[in-house]
Amino acid sequence: MSKKIRAVVALGANLGKPRQQIEKALSAINHLEGVRLKAISPLFQTKAVGLTDQPDFINAVVLLHTILNPQQLLQTLQKLELDFGRERAIRFGPRTLDLDIIDYDGLVVNDQNLILPHPRAHERAFVMEPLARIVPDYQVGKHGKAAELAVTLLRQKPDEMVTILA
Ligand code: ADP
Ligand code: MG
Repeated sequence: MSKKIRAVVALGANLGKPRQQIEKALSAINHLEGVRLKAISPLFQTKAVGLTDQPDFINAVVLLHTILNPQQLLQTLQKLELDFGRERAIRFGPRTLDLDIIDYDGLVVNDQNLILPHPRAHERAFVMEPLARIVPDYQVGKHGKAAELAVTLLRQKPDEMVTILA
C-alpha cells in the first residue's frame, strides 16, 4: 500500500448481539478497499453514558493503514454503518453500529461533516482504554498520549469500563 496513513477508528454497538456486530464490523473493515487493519484492541463491555437506560455497549478501537483521504474514509465507514443498519433496522432499534474516526495521522480537519481529531474521543474511557492497549503512546490531538489519558479517565470514572472480553 503506497503512501500509507495511520488512522484510528472506534467501534461501538449495543445491539441484541453487539459482540457479533463488532466482530462482523471488524471483518468488514479488514476487507475494505484501500484500508488495512494493523491492530485490533480487545473488546470491552462498557456502560452507556448519557442515556443510561439502554444495554451495555461493546467497544473496540482499531489502528488502520489507509490510502483513502479523510472524506473517503468517512464515507466508506458511513456506508458500512448503513450496511449494518439495514440489517438491524428490521429487528432492532437504531444506532447499533457507530464508527468514528478518532484520528487521521494527526491531521486537523474542521469540515461540516468531519472533525479531526474526534472532538470528544479524549474524554471517553471506552475509546482511550482500547487505544492504549494497541498503541499506548498514540498522541491524541493536543490532549496527550492514549495510555495517560486512559489512566486519568478510568481514575475519574472507574464504572465506565466493565469487562474486557476474551
Ligand atoms: P457520535 O458518534 O458523536 O455519537 P453520530 O455517529 O450519530 O454521533 O454522528 C455522526 C455524525 O458525526 C456524522 O454525520 C459525521 O459526519 C459526523 N462526524 C464529525 N466528525 C466525525 C468523525 N471524526 N468521525 C465520524 N463521524 C464524524
Ligand atoms: Mg459516530
